[in-house]
Amino acid sequence: MNVHSPVKLSFDPRQLPSDLWIGGKWRPGMTGKRMEVFDPSTGKAIATIADASIEDALDAVSAAHTAAPGWAATAPRERGEILRRCFDLMIARRDMLAELISLENGKSLSDAKGEVTYAAEFFRWFSEEAVRLNGDIYSAPSGANKIVVQHQPIGVAVLITPWNFPAAMATRKIAPALAAGCTCVLKPATETPLTAYVLADLYREAGVPDGVVNVITTSRSGATVSAMLHDPRVRKLSFTGSTEVGRKLLHEAADNVISCSMELGGNAPFIVFDDADLEAALDGAMIAKMRNGGEACTAANRFYVQSGIADAFSKGLTDRMAALKVGAGYDPATQCGPLINKDAVERIGGLVDEAVADGAAVLAGGKADDRAGFYFAPTVLAGVKADARITREEIFGPVVAISTFDREDDVVASANDTEYGLIAYVYTGDLARGLRVSERLESGMVGLNRGLVSDPAAPFGGVKQSGLGREGAHHGIMEFCETKYIAVSW
Ligand code: NAD
Repeated sequence: MNVHSPVKLSFDPRQLPSDLWIGGKWRPGMTGKRMEVFDPSTGKAIATIADASIEDALDAVSAAHTAAPGWAATAPRERGEILRRCFDLMIARRDMLAELISLENGKSLSDAKGEVTYAAEFFRWFSEEAVRLNGDIYSAPSGANKIVVQHQPIGVAVLITPWNFPAAMATRKIAPALAAGCTCVLKPATETPLTAYVLADLYREAGVPDGVVNVITTSRSGATVSAMLHDPRVRKLSFTGSTEVGRKLLHEAADNVISCSMELGGNAPFIVFDDADLEAALDGAMIAKMRNGGEACTAANRFYVQSGIADAFSKGLTDRMAALKVGAGYDPATQCGPLINKDAVERIGGLVDEAVADGAAVLAGGKADDRAGFYFAPTVLAGVKADARITREEIFGPVVAISTFDREDDVVASANDTEYGLIAYVYTGDLARGLRVSERLESGMVGLNRGLVSDPAAPFGGVKQSGLGREGAHHGIMEFCETKYIAVSW
């Protein structure tokens, strides 16, 4: 594995905002406790952040609740213009934000720059959606009255985000919430909180009023989030994270019948038919597998390659994976950064060892690196058994697991044999087959001859246990709206 050494940063992470952002003020948590934030590229602590108590979290709900009527009454055009300024500021600060994301998450700088652009685009898209929240008016079939339908802000929203996209998972929620006229409390992952706090300051600068966005970090996410979900002023939960935690939160949200949008785990099949364009399939495979070093819910998790193209595809992918430059995320030469933490390295090592013990061949990589930092070598396994654990669980790292197939019906059955249903990828030169298979796949999204689908203008989300609801597109703003029907006689 080709390894780079860390480079000097353009900022001091200890000087960044690190207290709770509540009601337009920075404040330490009530208990005064702090948590450490680590650089996965070195394994060293880089900053500390405030640790919110339940009381802090309920204060954040109070701040959001107090700000709600004013924000809901703000003209959609004005809300849209504030969101547009958030977009402009994020793009202007892309380099610094990318460096920060690389620092706390470990992803390569080019992935981090891509994330900042993607994250900012949610503000641009929803700045435009803010003024397109159209209702409807029509006559009751009886002729007795008119039916007037409006979309109103749902109320205070609790937003919970994972560590793998520290900026984009937050803006994918904050932008539509604000466009719809909702106020919110964001609880980012404790692994990557600095990006969320730096962005909170950017929203203030863009003109987001005090209390409209609040950001808290806590070491007791279970108890703190539970307290917020049991506060009757909270009406919305938008969660992105694992299916396991998502299930728990759906139970919590049931007590107060809170509206839930859930973006959960994935187990994406990547299907390559014999008639696929090999180079295009390899390019797509690298994007679908290696964006974020494999730490993406959309990451290709199981490669199913038809027998006639299997050897050429495995060789091509092995060459590309083995050539990746591994190193500190913020080193501009790095193509594959570290994993998020030691647990991830150990978990992935376990999945690989088990697959190899069960007969899979290691074509590249296959093991962790024992230096400081949390590195796992880009790995390719071939001959992976259909029921191996590595095909059932999210790998969430730089490991390709390849199986072969012969018949279309068999590969569709294998692809659908999972509780997940976020995304699937299909490569074929036959468009009719591509569309037919896309329709049969049980997933919310399909990349047909494409390894990247994420787009703020498109509805992102999963079926089965990969989630409920959609983010992005017009669907994204509707998740933060209640439908109001007024029967009118005139
Ligand atoms: P996670 O579920 O462990 O944590 C997600 C968030 O929930 C974090 O902020 C965490 O602090 C919080 N959390 C953890 N336990 C909680 C509890 N009991 N109550 C309340 N909050 C709690 O997920 P992760 O490890 O941060 O992220 C990786 C997972 O996220 C993967 O499964 C990935 O597929 C998924 N993900 C999904 C999407 C999508 O759009 N579908 C996008 C990105 C990541």
